[in-house]
Amino acid sequence: MPGRSKSTVDTRKATNRGGVKRTSIKNLLREDILAASAILDGFPDAVMAVDMDGTVRYVNVAFEKLLGYKAEELVGMSALDLPTYRGQENMEKGAVLFEQVLESGYAEPVDMDAVTRDGQEIPLSFTASLLRDASGNPASLVAVIRDVTERKRTELALRNSEEKLKTYLENSPDIICVVGKKGVITYINRATEEITGYSRDEMVGYSFTKLPLLAPESKTKPDEWKELNEAGGATRPQEFVIVKKDGGKVCVEVSTLTIGSADNGGNVEVVAIARDITERKHNEEERHKLSIELAEKNRELEQIVYVASHDLRSPLVNVQGFSKELNYSLEELVSITQDEAIPPEIRGELNRIIKSDIADSFQYIETSITKMDSLLAGLLRFSRLGRAALTFEELNINLLLVDIKKDFEYRLKEAGASLEIGELPSCVGDAVQLNQVFSNLVDNALKYRETRRPATIKITGCEEDTQAVYCVEDNGIGIAPEHQTKVFEIFQRLDPDFNTGEGLGLSIAKRIIGRHNGNIWVESEKDVGSKFFVSLPAVE
Ligand code: ADP
Repeated sequence: MPGRSKSTVDTRKATNRGGVKRTSIKNLLREDILAASAILDGFPDAVMAVDMDGTVRYVNVAFEKLLGYKAEELVGMSALDLPTYRGQENMEKGAVLFEQVLESGYAEPVDMDAVTRDGQEIPLSFTASLLRDASGNPASLVAVIRDVTERKRTELALRNSEEKLKTYLENSPDIICVVGKKGVITYINRATEEITGYSRDEMVGYSFTKLPLLAPESKTKPDEWKELNEAGGATRPQEFVIVKKDGGKVCVEVSTLTIGSADNGGNVEVVAIARDITERKHNEEERHKLSIELAEKNRELEQIVYVASHDLRSPLVNVQGFSKELNYSLEELVSITQDEAIPPEIRGELNRIIKSDIADSFQYIETSITKMDSLLAGLLRFSRLGRAALTFEELNINLLLVDIKKDFEYRLKEAGASLEIGELPSCVGDAVQLNQVFSNLVDNALKYRETRRPATIKITGCEEDTQAVYCVEDNGIGIAPEHQTKVFEIFQRLDPDFNTGEGLGLSIAKRIIGRHNGNIWVESEKDVGSKFFVSLPAVE
């Protein structure tokens, strides 16, 4: 047998030659073991045989390999004196094992650490059993020793990952609750205790549905849920209201994950993860309330603007009418002043007052009336926009712009301007109102052109996610960065030299686009040109 010591082999031969009948009990024992040694040496586990007086009689090849000692170094030694023990504690374990085997004939596996010849510590698992001679007397104790380094490493890795997992679960801000058979809670994390106010002792081991956790409004949900869980896998988040120990309520969003399957009699566990959304719900409700209030205020404001702009026009018509009347009276006055009976110096003074001072004042009054009339008309148009019903439909913006181009034909020609329309995506919107938007943008591109160069206007578009985005680009006077937000405000005009505008076109466009859930913005460079972008819902 390669690697085995000469003395062991000799002993074996001598014993084999001795025969069973002529041997003492000890020899018989030795002979039995040695007869089995051929088998035991091929064993993957280490084996050691000890006499009833505690003397080591045999160790197999696996033992030698495991602990680094040769058989002849250990055979004949007291089992308690073996150099392989690591510390008193392990030696005591060995003694207990010995006692146990003597008493019951067999010992359950015991973990013991040992030291190899080169000082390395290894974890071992020992089992032992008692061999009896033909008369039934204890003859020998055989220990089977297994290197459990790998098992220990796996156990440690498992423990570490369990620890880690536990740390994650315990530090989760969400409730994590595991429900096992018959709805009995088997685990809750710290967040569950903190959010519900119940301790682990008050929850773990109790049936989830029997605890007064669900608020009446959420009581029916577990049934719907049961079906989902039975389908296996994960459920979509559902909102529940739970009652805390102190009676307060918490709104939670719960998702569950079913592990295992009831079909094959396996253990089914449901892991519930619940997020406290009380604050989020509260904020949502607040936001909803505020948006309703805001819409109401907007409606009131719109009403005021509408009534004001409408009603203010009637007194204005009166002012306009009476100012005309006054003008006629003034003309009469002028003819009276021609009377020769009036002294010339008084006539001159009256003429000056009537033809200069009063005429100037009338001029101001007329201009102001016209201005106010146009402002009120603008306001009225603007407030009517919010009331106009919208008809949403799929719109071919190319066709819409071809129509607009026709409307602008004369003005384009007059200005020597070109209008190019690219391939535009369709969108969903109100044809009349969007015609107004694009007309305003083309109108502005023409109005605010740079007269030192031929005006070119380009309209392009593309689809971006769910939006159709259009761009009306010109090479006009441009808008300085600090004014690019202001131009969308009502009555804002940047350059009084351009007399044509009322400062309404872009605010109207913004209003219309807002009602389409779209967006309008500008990118511009002073003296270079502007790009007005409009985004609208694309056709699905
Ligand atoms: P309006 O043209 O009637 O004055 P808008 O609301 O259409 O009113 O535009 C507001 C202001 O924004 C304009 O008075 C002008 O100063 C500026 N603006 C609008 N479009 C352009 C443009 N394409 N190029 C340069 N400035 C523009």
